[in-house]
Amino acid sequence: MPTSPPPSGGLRGRLASGPVICAEGYLFELERRGFLQAGAFVPEVVLEHPDVVRGLHREFVHAGSDVVEAFTYYAHREKLRVIGQEQLLEPLNRRALEIAGEVARESGTLFAGDICNTNVWGEDAESRRRVRAMFDEQVGWAAEAGVDFVIGETFQWVEEALLACEAIRDAGLEAVMTISIHQDPRTREGLTPAEACRRLADAGAIVVGLNCSRGPQTMLPLLADIRAAVDVSVAALPVPYRTHVHEPTMQSLRDPQPLDGYLDRPFPTALDPFTCSRYDVAAFTREAAALGVDYLGLCCGAAPHHIRAMAEALGSTPPSSRYSADMTKHAYFGSEPGLQEDNLAFSARL
Ligand SMILES: [Zn+2]
Repeated sequence: MPTSPPPSGGLRGRLASGPVICAEGYLFELERRGFLQAGAFVPEVVLEHPDVVRGLHREFVHAGSDVVEAFTYYAHREKLRVIGQEQLLEPLNRRALEIAGEVARESGTLFAGDICNTNVWGEDAESRRRVRAMFDEQVGWAAEAGVDFVIGETFQWVEEALLACEAIRDAGLEAVMTISIHQDPRTREGLTPAEACRRLADAGAIVVGLNCSRGPQTMLPLLADIRAAVDVSVAALPVPYRTHVHEPTMQSLRDPQPLDGYLDRPFPTALDPFTCSRYDVAAFTREAAALGVDYLGLCCGAAPHHIRAMAEALGSTPPSSRYSADMTKHAYFGSEPGLQEDNLAFSARL
């Protein structure tokens, strides 16, 4: 493929000319495809099947993602310790960054590093030191790979997110910081999403907002307060699942048709029946954009057709729009002259 120059102005430049789309959700999509194990959720796939990761990056760009996010989510020291593979930490991060950088440069999209919740956060000094060291090593590899910015995501503690933001800023990089809000609509310290995002903006993040856990319907009501609380860009990257007021997160969804003795909790491997349609995603995108959200995407559960719907809802025509649905030629539900009348008449009985 031809190589395109990096986008001028980086993320700030892109945001100045309109909303930016960032496809996330690599863990779930690669798990579904059979290249990553649910449970530990460690992205060893970047070493074991780099072509599959490269292909998914390209699919998301084809569908309209403006950002190629290196698949270093959960590729941190604690996750690798849990699976007894700490020696893979550096090669895994470097390989993920290399793959994402390659796709970003060939497609002219933005190249992002990625860090996330460590699962070992505590407020004591030793915990802070340990967590900061985990961020520093990953951010250092991202900086060496030449990322345009670093995403810090799925934080439940704003204090941990602030430490991540500081690590990114101290490396001389721009930070996109998103937190995850669970059933209780506050961070684990008890801050509202708007308060948490204000603190992250004050810490120098150029985009702040929410990602993961909540679906479109239950993330949307939190966005206006965030937009009003900060002067920087606002991010919204829900999971594409039909969460609702009684089950506001993908982890709290319960299947009305559970199988006997199995899966009383659909998260994370039986969420399929709750998946949003592309039209759900388009509606969310329009509503979020109308609130002033200008960094949009989807997290766990996202597939390329969702990202295309998001891009088209923002007025873009990514390469995959060439294949967007056109039912006018459908043999039974179409409307074009020349279709078989008896089939069209039969459509009501299908
Ligand atoms: Zn997610």
